[in-house]
Amino acid sequence: MSSVARTTIDAVEVSGRTVLVRVDFNVPMSEGEITDDSRIRAALPTIQSILDRGGACVLMSHLGRPSGSGFEPAFTLAPAANRLAELLGRPVNLPSRDCLDESSVAAVDSIEAGGVILLENLRFHKAEKKGDAEFAARLASYGDLYCQDAFGAAHRADASMVAVPEAMEGRPRTAGRLLEAELRYLSGAIDSPARPFVAVLGGAKISDKLATIRHLAGRVDTLVVGGAMAFTLLRAMGHGTGKSLVEESMVKEASGIIDAVAATSTTLLLPVDFVCAGSPAAGVKTTVSGRDIEDGQMGLDIGPGSVEVFTEAIRAARTVVWNGPMGLFEIPPFDRGTLAVAKAMIDATTAGATSVVGGGDTAAAVNDLGLATGFTHVSTGGGASLRMLEGGPMPGVEALDRA
Ligand code: ADP
Ligand code: MG
Repeated sequence: MSSVARTTIDAVEVSGRTVLVRVDFNVPMSEGEITDDSRIRAALPTIQSILDRGGACVLMSHLGRPSGSGFEPAFTLAPAANRLAELLGRPVNLPSRDCLDESSVAAVDSIEAGGVILLENLRFHKAEKKGDAEFAARLASYGDLYCQDAFGAAHRADASMVAVPEAMEGRPRTAGRLLEAELRYLSGAIDSPARPFVAVLGGAKISDKLATIRHLAGRVDTLVVGGAMAFTLLRAMGHGTGKSLVEESMVKEASGIIDAVAATSTTLLLPVDFVCAGSPAAGVKTTVSGRDIEDGQMGLDIGPGSVEVFTEAIRAARTVVWNGPMGLFEIPPFDRGTLAVAKAMIDATTAGATSVVGGGDTAAAVNDLGLATGFTHVSTGGGASLRMLEGGPMPGVEALDRA
């Protein structure tokens, strides 16, 4: 990533100005209700800083994956506007069903200091995902300056992330407080870690995390791998995996990655046992296997022996990053391994380690377990935090570094 200094929102004059802020209000929803408002809360420091200093905010975000052919009620940002108004204790105006129509333009034209507008879902226009320049130019006309605070989308080159700041050339283009905090914790952990540095990876698919393993090999002291992704590695080593989730097409690649890690200074820790069942359901009879799983059985969580080995490594860490649950945590009792890892990370944090949790499902898991406050940092980005762990491009950040 470029080392060019970014301008932060706190370094620029906002009094009497309208700040066009890209936020990430892509919150999980169920039946029209927000089930986790962490991302809205995480945007408050930037918004509050602008309002406190006499500025006005025009906020823009996407939500979900609408078709891109106009308003769809299932993807409205109205619940996010309501939640933000409650959190700020002031009105939030969602002017219309279309971020570019006359009502939106008129609302932005008449905004006053202290005012907050939330534009409707940017992805109601196909142009957002396409990075369209004309769409971006119209959004750019809404602000005297730009602020990028949508870490969760910073690995994407959507119009609001890249083409809008480009279209605002000559006006200040700044990073918000959330974006700065995310970059500080994630790049700090990877680029200048206190050691031992332990990375914990889990989750469903090894294919999602191959690039992460390659990037972390030689950088971390210990790489702990649990979750279903471990089965593809164990299969590559010749172990029996029963009915567990294995990515057959990845077995050969997995074998290569084991050799690649072994050639570095990184120690790879794989599970030594599993909690198994005949099917992934609540209330099923469970057994504990060794490293080999019997035919007809599925490994659904790491076993007690693995918990011991993994948590010992984590407790000894001075830096620990975690992405991906250790098992099928949505269905108890298969949440135990994930819970044990979370608790060991919190213990390490209490003892002075820096701990960073990334990943959409992983962050949701620690929030559900009521543990989110015990870590140094819980990232608001799933794909974006993984991209950082891979050392891959972050177009939404690079657009600011060019500014
Ligand atoms: P994240 O979003 O945190 O990066 P992933 O999306 O890669 O994580 O993986 C999360 C999913 O992996 C969860 O739904 C979890 O149930 C599933 N999972 C983890 N371990 C297992 C397992 N042993 N068997 C089945 N599913 C698993
Ligand atoms: Mg996921």
